[in-house]
Amino acid sequence: MSDKSVKYPFARLGDVNAPYRDRMVQAMTDVVDSGQYIGGEALETFEQQLADFCQAPYAIGLTNGLDALRLMLRAAIELGMLGPGDEVIVPANTYVATILAISHNDLKPVLVEPDIDTLNLDTRLIDHAITPRTRAIMLVHLYGRTSWDQNIVDAARRHNLLVFEDNAQAIGACALDAKGLYGSQMTGALGIAGAFSFYPTKNIGALGDAGAVVTHDAELAQAVRALRNYGSLRQYDNLYQGFNCRLDPVKAAALSVKLPYADYENDQRRQRADLYNQHIVNPFVSKPLWTANADHVWHQYVVRVNNRQQFRDFLLAHGVETAVHYPTPPHRQPCYVAELGDLHLPVTEKICQTVVSLPITRSTSLVDIQAIANIINTYHE
Ligand SMILES: *Cc1c(COP(=O)(O)O)cnc(C)c1O
Repeated sequence: MSDKSVKYPFARLGDVNAPYRDRMVQAMTDVVDSGQYIGGEALETFEQQLADFCQAPYAIGLTNGLDALRLMLRAAIELGMLGPGDEVIVPANTYVATILAISHNDLKPVLVEPDIDTLNLDTRLIDHAITPRTRAIMLVHLYGRTSWDQNIVDAARRHNLLVFEDNAQAIGACALDAKGLYGSQMTGALGIAGAFSFYPTKNIGALGDAGAVVTHDAELAQAVRALRNYGSLRQYDNLYQGFNCRLDPVKAAALSVKLPYADYENDQRRQRADLYNQHIVNPFVSKPLWTANADHVWHQYVVRVNNRQQFRDFLLAHGVETAVHYPTPPHRQPCYVAELGDLHLPVTEKICQTVVSLPITRSTSLVDIQAIANIINTYHE
């Protein structure tokens, strides 16, 4: 939503895609010429690329990130790994889609506070949230920061929990501190299964909606494959009451052009984050925690300020467009007030009141990042 007066727009997706444009157009043209518009080679190639990238055996292309989250959980239910009413531990400060996917499957989201510094699940609180109905943890690598440590590994083993990941924001991030449960150190492949989103603003964005599930479990992979296709693996043989959630090959073909550059794209964001980290020096502005033991792919660069409206107005007056991820936590949304509205989650609420996302995509040059940092340094309350 940028207008002419904005010198530093939050993001320009056309510019982000420009280096890939010609190859994407060619790849999509090849699909047009192939005559195969559902499934087929373009989809399978992308799925293999994604599985290899995540060091996992299976990837299944889907319509979007929410469907990936929903089908991953539904597959576990169909296989008897989870049942209705089972409790899923999930960070309280996440995009509402994470919680919706749990609700849509008649599972119970158990919202746990984040750590005020990492903005990810406070893993020291997992043990307090466990009940006899707890069967799973849904991790969210919020803003691209890896959410993985020994507490998670220990809790999963001790309580026999399934670990799922909402990896919509952290494709290409690595767990550096503790090994994943199945060998891979890549986010999205740390637990039994992970959901990916290729929504256009994500670190690897599609030309429209797209998503995927990555998993180490052969049966879960089969079940997701069936569920995306009316519950069917063979035509007119419906194992499950499934859905139509297939990733279009024309979108998969374009994604296959970009996916090999995931590390490059993440490094572009890291460069910008490094500049902000170095150059923003302002007692009124808390910078995001960066520590050597937690890989970060900077889906968003999120600072915290006490007076958010004043800060955003100040930046906009200086031509800097910002965003807020997210102003209202899921338990305060109208659709969840009846179910979750009584929860006391002061850390989550404080985060939602104070966060501001700065421009971080490749469409903002390094020179502009430095200029934005300088503008931020002149802000005071
Ligand atoms: C983007 C996002 C989703 C949803 O993905 P869509 O592809 O938009 O459906 C889910 N969870 C998180 C954390 C996200 O950032």
